[in-house]
Amino acid sequence: MLAMDNPLRRIRVVLVEPTHPGNIGAAARAMKTMGLHNLALVRPHEFPCAAATAMAAGADDLLVRAQVADSLQETLGGCGWVIGTSARTRTIPWPVHDPREAAGRALAMAGEAEVAVVFGREHAGLTNDELELCQAVVRIPSDPDFGSLNLGAAVQVLAYELRMQWLAGQQAAAVEMVNDAPPATSDDMARLYAHLEETMIETGFLDPVKPRRLMRRVRRLFNRAGLDRNEVNIIRGFLTAVQDRRRGGPGGAADQT
Ligand code: SAH
Repeated sequence: MLAMDNPLRRIRVVLVEPTHPGNIGAAARAMKTMGLHNLALVRPHEFPCAAATAMAAGADDLLVRAQVADSLQETLGGCGWVIGTSARTRTIPWPVHDPREAAGRALAMAGEAEVAVVFGREHAGLTNDELELCQAVVRIPSDPDFGSLNLGAAVQVLAYELRMQWLAGQQAAAVEMVNDAPPATSDDMARLYAHLEETMIETGFLDPVKPRRLMRRVRRLFNRAGLDRNEVNIIRGFLTAVQDRRRGGPGGAADQT
């Protein structure tokens, strides 16, 4: 997959007025480990700063390329979906999502638009005016008695959830590629089971008088496998060959070894 096609590249992290430069570096590190590369800073207290670079531990390229802005609005240019994060349960008039749910939505949106995830000040979080620029508010479901994470840690949690969503999408795409034939229908499966049962009886493997639970187990096995049409045809082709051979038909005649 080309880097430009990677939706993670369309997700930016915005830190509003971070006080401690070390947290900026920690956020950059948290982002880069999860494949996020776009960082924006609104009125950072101190930046650039050696403490930020030190905490970035190799993610300093994100710091070098970081956008530094005077207002949150400026950093949201081109964004189709903005998530605000808040530690407080308080009386937020916005629907509050958990990070997993929000990451799913963010990834879907990032398929076609720019997305921003906004983090607040260490001491005071985001203002209501800032939250009003966000379409969704996310709260990491921490212990309400001690609910506020370190800024870098909060960035890590969101970045991780975004990555997990992206990986899940990759896996789904890989499964689609493996399945180069349409999935078997329930009719295909019913015919396969009938064919299997018939062949098992013909070969003496299954005693129709004492079938026990064999066919149920066979069904369970194939249901778990999720066969496609080609795979059903392979098994049925094999069963036909077994039957032909037993009956002295084409398969049996063709192979007299
Ligand atoms: N006293 C502040 C805490 C800010 S912590 C407040 O009450 O909001 C700094 C930033 O880290 C927050 O603005 C938020 O962006 C993020 N953060 C910390 N804990 C969080 C949590 N439990 N859920 C979501 N974001 C959190």
